[in-house]
Amino acid sequence: MRQQPRPGTAGSSGPVTEGARPDDARRHNRAAVLRRLHVDGPCTRAVLTGELGVNRSTIKAVVSDLTESGLVSERLPVRRSGAGRPSLLVVPSAAAAVVLAVDIRVDRVAMALVGLGGQILGRCGWRLRPGTERPAELLSRVLEEAPVLATEVAAPPAGVGVSVPGVVRRADGFVHEAPHLRWAAVPVGARLSAGLRLPVQVANDAELGALAEHTRGVARGADDVVFLAGDIGVGGGVISGGTALRGSGGYLGELGHMVVRPDGRICHCGCRGCWETEVAAPALCRALGLPVDTARGELLASLRELAPDTAARKLDEFTGWLALGLVNVVNVLAPRLVVLGDLLAALPDPVLDRVAAQVRERSMVSRALAHTEVVRSALGRDAQLIGAGELAFAQVLESAVG
Ligand SMILES: [Zn+2]
Repeated sequence: MRQQPRPGTAGSSGPVTEGARPDDARRHNRAAVLRRLHVDGPCTRAVLTGELGVNRSTIKAVVSDLTESGLVSERLPVRRSGAGRPSLLVVPSAAAAVVLAVDIRVDRVAMALVGLGGQILGRCGWRLRPGTERPAELLSRVLEEAPVLATEVAAPPAGVGVSVPGVVRRADGFVHEAPHLRWAAVPVGARLSAGLRLPVQVANDAELGALAEHTRGVARGADDVVFLAGDIGVGGGVISGGTALRGSGGYLGELGHMVVRPDGRICHCGCRGCWETEVAAPALCRALGLPVDTARGELLASLRELAPDTAARKLDEFTGWLALGLVNVVNVLAPRLVVLGDLLAALPDPVLDRVAAQVRERSMVSRALAHTEVVRSALGRDAQLIGAGELAFAQVLESAVG
């Protein structure tokens, strides 16, 4: 299925316009074409003309501008279709705009250089051990690794996107709390932008998972999406009407702290019976009879080895809590698609099928939508890293077109 452009996509430049002031229109058109090529890949000028709804001469001028800036090139397609002269493809030049993506997790850090078009041009990462997750140590290591990684590409990164599993002030990347890292009041954005001398954007990990799945994953083309990241904690990212919902300050998304069981376990946030206490990794470990601090790899292996009937039995209660929370989420946010990420994407089929069935049956909104789908992440463990790259690109693409 060919993707249609999605005006209003998070970070989108919107459709091409004609009739605005000439300089603004040129800049806007360049941004729209560049974003289309960055997100959906190479295509012909004819496709750009059709998708962006402007005349051929405008697209010709825009492509010529972008070619002159080195951001795109035109070349023959590798595979020819049909007889006659093939149309040239407009191809984004990966090394012409590069960003640094950083994904900070509870157990590891991943960094990548991402080129225009979304290609990962280089990556590195390391595991976190007790002590190395302290903010000063961790951010110093990011500052040390960044220039080493940057030697892998000719062009230096033009911006940085960072994913943090916590409550992040979007304006300046200040992390109020990242409880599973035991971080409080960490100025991640300020620290990294001072050290790297680059614009740095920081966002919550689930928000970036949603952005990644919406831009490059299983939620492409879907306008109303909830991405639910479940690992040691649980968070949600929401795309509504094609745009990321952020709430005041950018703090929207703590779905894991929706109280579902008032007589349940005490949560680290101070409440009792949060959804996270029933559907994050420790709850999964308890359901499988494993120690609550079982390593991720071992937990994944245990999930893979479960026979279908054993999975349904052992995870019966876990499945019930996951479904109950999702029914609430779907009723409140009305997504057409719920994407399960991280450990939740590793749940066996019988569990996923039962959760999806319960959402269909119990959510009024899902019934009205006939129905909300529940699917696994397509990007797996890289979702937040890819989202961090897209966060940086949203700004870099705007400045790339001058
Ligand atoms: Zn809580």
